[in-house]
Amino acid sequence: MPTQDKRGFNTRALDPQSPWFLPHAHTMSLSLTSTYTNDSLEPPANPELAFKYARIAHPNGELLEHTIASLENGQEAAGAADGMRAISLTMASILHPSRQGIIVSTSPLYSDTYRFFMMDIVPRGKQYILLNSPESCAIDFKNIIIHAPQEAPIEALFIESPANPTLTVWDIKALSHVAHEYGIPVIVDSTFATPYNCRPLELGADFVIQSLTKYYCGHGTTLGGAVISSHERIKQIKERRQREGGHLHPMAAWLIQEGLKTFGIRMERHNKNAVLLAHFLNSKKCRPYITKVYYPGLPAHPGHAAAREQMRTPYGKPGFGGMVCFELACQKFVKSFTETLAQYLELAVSFGSTKSMFSVPALQIHGSLPPAERTALGISDTLIRFSVGTEDFKDIKHAFQEAFKSLL
Ligand code: PLP
Repeated sequence: MPTQDKRGFNTRALDPQSPWFLPHAHTMSLSLTSTYTNDSLEPPANPELAFKYARIAHPNGELLEHTIASLENGQEAAGAADGMRAISLTMASILHPSRQGIIVSTSPLYSDTYRFFMMDIVPRGKQYILLNSPESCAIDFKNIIIHAPQEAPIEALFIESPANPTLTVWDIKALSHVAHEYGIPVIVDSTFATPYNCRPLELGADFVIQSLTKYYCGHGTTLGGAVISSHERIKQIKERRQREGGHLHPMAAWLIQEGLKTFGIRMERHNKNAVLLAHFLNSKKCRPYITKVYYPGLPAHPGHAAAREQMRTPYGKPGFGGMVCFELACQKFVKSFTETLAQYLELAVSFGSTKSMFSVPALQIHGSLPPAERTALGISDTLIRFSVGTEDFKDIKHAFQEAFKSLL
């Protein structure tokens, strides 16, 4: 389902060439109206005048969806109020509403995605099985399928790659291959990678999920989400969105569209700064403070080979993303390290903004999970998740050096 637009990624992000873009406007105007008027009860001859009500569709949403579909190399996209709404709309469109069934997902997942499966899907009579080992994931997945009882078939495979927060990389191509042998739909949450670094539809996935709140928007100004797939599947999701609500607000769509003007150049810089930071944190100098660095671009990362295959920029170069995680050497470092780092860079639960920000998953994002579940997901109390911004690298490094000094 590749895009017909052969222009480069940066050009497509800047200039979506959509009919929704007003002629002669440098920037898309913001359509702040809840409803649209009609001249008569006859359907309008001009489809551009066919908007009825902003819950169904609006010009800013149409333009953004058109741009996202092109960047992800998909047929069509549906916007959603946030990333979680994109996930819940997509799963509702796939899962049978009443039959018993099994959902398989990779592990770990973003905490609220995991809680969504555990608290909203399992109580509806579905079984939920986690894949834990990226090395043997295709074999493990096949075994789960083969042993599934006939009355409870596998209904979906949900992959998050790289995973939040451990940056576990899953082989999307191999898993999709197995899934398709058995007609199982594959959903990939590619929020950490973005289409600049990975395009799961090209690797065989059926649906891609993006939290637009993060790198797509890039400036931390709004929430947003999207799902990208075929025309037929997105049509169903848009019908559900109309019935249940949850479309992007026009203002959110406008802000994300503006953010996209610098998407490619931001991502290139995030990638570059993250490689520098991962190597710095992995160096001898940092060893007294840091015991482990998680970054798919490091040759020692267990998912490095898979990442080299599937994490490629639209220009064919490896692109490992802007997220770096690491383990502090001991629990007593956490307070002093985070409080000193927070004097220079933002301590915040989001990521993907131009400004660097960091969090302690066990105490913040994944704090809602019981400790035993966190441990099972590989999220320790000393794990720090760092979203590498586009600042001058020397200033990011300086902030770390000051935070390390506070531990002496
Ligand atoms: N998917 C991933 C991987 C995330 O990290 C997040 C949020 O952090 C979401 C989905 C949910 O996105 P949102 O916060 O836009 O609802």
